[in-house]
Amino acid sequence: MSTITPKIEVETTPNLVSKVYEKLQNKISTFRKASHRPLTICEKILIGHLDESADFSSDDALVAGKSYVLLNPDRVALQDVTGQMTILQFMLAGLNRTAVPTTVHCDHLIQARIGSDPDTKAALYENNEVYQFLESASRKYGMGFWKPGAGIIHQVVLENYAFPGGLMIGTDSHTPNAGGLGMLAIGVGGLDAAEVMAGMSWELLYPKRIGVYLTGELNSWASPKDVILFVASKLTVSGGTNAIIEYFGPGAAAISCTGKATITNMGAEIGATCSLFPYDKRMETYLRATGRRSIADLANKHVNLLTQDPRIEKEIRENQENSINYFDQLIEIDLSNLEPYIVGPHTPDLARPISKMGEDIKKNDYLDTISVALIGSCTNSSYEDMSRAADVAEQAREKGIKTKVPLQVTPGSEMIRATIERDGQMKLLKDIGANVLANACGPCIGQWNRPELKQGESNTIVTSYNRNFPGRNDGRRETMNFISSPELVIALALGGRLSFSPLTDELTASDGKKFKLRPPKIAPEIPEKGFKDVTDIYVAPADDPVRVGVTINKDSDRLQKLEPFPKWDGKDFEKLPILAKVRGKCTTDHISPAGPWLMYRGHLDKISDNLLLGAVNAYRDGEVGSGKNTLNSKIEPFPHIAREYKKRGLKWIIVGDNNYGEGSSREHAAMTPRYLGCAAVIARSFARIHETNLKKQGVLAFTFADPSDYSKILEDDRISITGLNNLKPRKSVNCILYHVDGREEEISLRHSYNESQLEWFRAGSALNILHSMEQTSL
Ligand code: SF4
Repeated sequence: MSTITPKIEVETTPNLVSKVYEKLQNKISTFRKASHRPLTICEKILIGHLDESADFSSDDALVAGKSYVLLNPDRVALQDVTGQMTILQFMLAGLNRTAVPTTVHCDHLIQARIGSDPDTKAALYENNEVYQFLESASRKYGMGFWKPGAGIIHQVVLENYAFPGGLMIGTDSHTPNAGGLGMLAIGVGGLDAAEVMAGMSWELLYPKRIGVYLTGELNSWASPKDVILFVASKLTVSGGTNAIIEYFGPGAAAISCTGKATITNMGAEIGATCSLFPYDKRMETYLRATGRRSIADLANKHVNLLTQDPRIEKEIRENQENSINYFDQLIEIDLSNLEPYIVGPHTPDLARPISKMGEDIKKNDYLDTISVALIGSCTNSSYEDMSRAADVAEQAREKGIKTKVPLQVTPGSEMIRATIERDGQMKLLKDIGANVLANACGPCIGQWNRPELKQGESNTIVTSYNRNFPGRNDGRRETMNFISSPELVIALALGGRLSFSPLTDELTASDGKKFKLRPPKIAPEIPEKGFKDVTDIYVAPADDPVRVGVTINKDSDRLQKLEPFPKWDGKDFEKLPILAKVRGKCTTDHISPAGPWLMYRGHLDKISDNLLLGAVNAYRDGEVGSGKNTLNSKIEPFPHIAREYKKRGLKWIIVGDNNYGEGSSREHAAMTPRYLGCAAVIARSFARIHETNLKKQGVLAFTFADPSDYSKILEDDRISITGLNNLKPRKSVNCILYHVDGREEEISLRHSYNESQLEWFRAGSALNILHSMEQTSL
């Protein structure tokens, strides 16, 4: 008989929230004994979630941008693409149930082709085995499963699970959407999520803080979207890196809860760890409207934990320079003066007010004719958003006109879709020509089939989405995506051109008369009749999980059960070949590219065929993704060579340049080398998350003691790394280069392993240790 992990409630119950507030109260009080300064909200939530092992005796251990802290999140959210490998890894730990409440959301795999019903049906057929796997694993391991068509992960989390003061991680970069409801919500890689699901704490670089002080009130065409588009233009796409963006000030309360979520969602576009707002009446309204009255009552009782200490705002109001005591940077926005913005193409920080778009089009020769307009996505599909968009549609309908270009609507959830269908907003949008797509990501993540476009045809689209890098929406780099608010996208669709400004330009009514659109009315943030109840979209964990089998077909090319990586055999690495020496930037996307490989995220063997396909070969100028197979001296793709070495039982080495493995924390970039036989990566320096991922998967990660030794490694060299039985923290390691001309050179390697990380290496992986702990407790 195996041990039974205590049952974890999937729901955000009052009991769970009350425990979190108790924890926050205790830890913040302890911290205040050592540090007497006022605290911001993100500090309170971080401190309140520090692991028991954390040192509370002073705030020296919490140096922004330097200290790493261990945290215990309250929830995990998985989407259907990244969730596959996360769950497969969780299964390796051998637990019966997840250790923290977890949900799975089927939103990324539905391709937009015709419309909601046929597209969802097609996805159910094409991805059947993936959905079966996710559902059966959810039922077995105690996770909540949201079916295809139920909605987009972040919207569903906001409607059901987010709560002020909580800490959540999610395997999707727009997880910070829940910051609109006062939750510290952070996007992570699948391995991090799997470990938290298995009961481990989670490591985070203690973030810097950027304050955004809001005053005034939005008016006219300006919307919450314009707040974040403006912030993005100020901070640029990397300005938020390793920082939490904390919004505060009297203007914060003037924005609805869902409007706040739009703003925190798009903090991902400036690289922020996450963004959040303080708890207020607007959040209370949303909690009550979404059936969470008792959580609103609890939050009301603990406002002091969920808002900044009041002295901070007071001091900043008196003198902005006081902000340096609390924030690394402060931005002030008077919402009353904010204009509607439009950003793009290809980057969200290329912003200008709509009034300047015309000039920019001429200057940059952008294509003025719009090919398709799209509203919705997890970023902008709230009741308020759809109501403002419908208001503009209603003005057009009254004048007897329709959009000049196709208009696609992606509701964020089935609850929103059913509610706006009942309350008439959907009819108004359809009346001006809208087509309704599935409640899913679709064109926001490249799941958009556009057969009408010729290969390589340049075209302009306008969306209310969040991301617009080349190829993002339809896989075509020529498509130029401009992002704006839903109401402005509707106006642009009516005008048919990017240079149309509803502020100044007129439309022609069906009777030939000219008219101007007026700014949309202030819209209700929640429906007067309440949100519509929807059914048959959710599957709860099984009452009798032992009886549930997890379905993985052994012939599948979409899913593969993971086998534990083998333990280290106790021997030194002797005369190993170099698979690749990489020159310059090598992100996790170069190591494990996305695009068509998205399909194989749950199949380690298949996806390993993309290993290093984006990496630049340091030995062969301009060669990308391939190198010399030392067994036959031919130039072949890296994954092919790795498989050849593996077949012959040969381990091999990767040599990296500076900041090797930067970019997203995609665990496939560490798993695929490990799977194909990589023994070690030696780099000039590592991006820390990737370095940790390599360590966790059992690949040794070294840096050159002397970075110039990088140039000593030649294409046909063999490499030995010795003394592995005596690996110790802070102790360098000996490496011998065997050159083909018979010379031998010795170089010294460094590492950053601590004792427990060395155990990961010896055991074969970090998950193997969890697994063996679980076995010994049987
Ligand atoms: S709608 Fe777009 S941004 Fe939101 S979760 Fe889906 S792909 Fe990501």
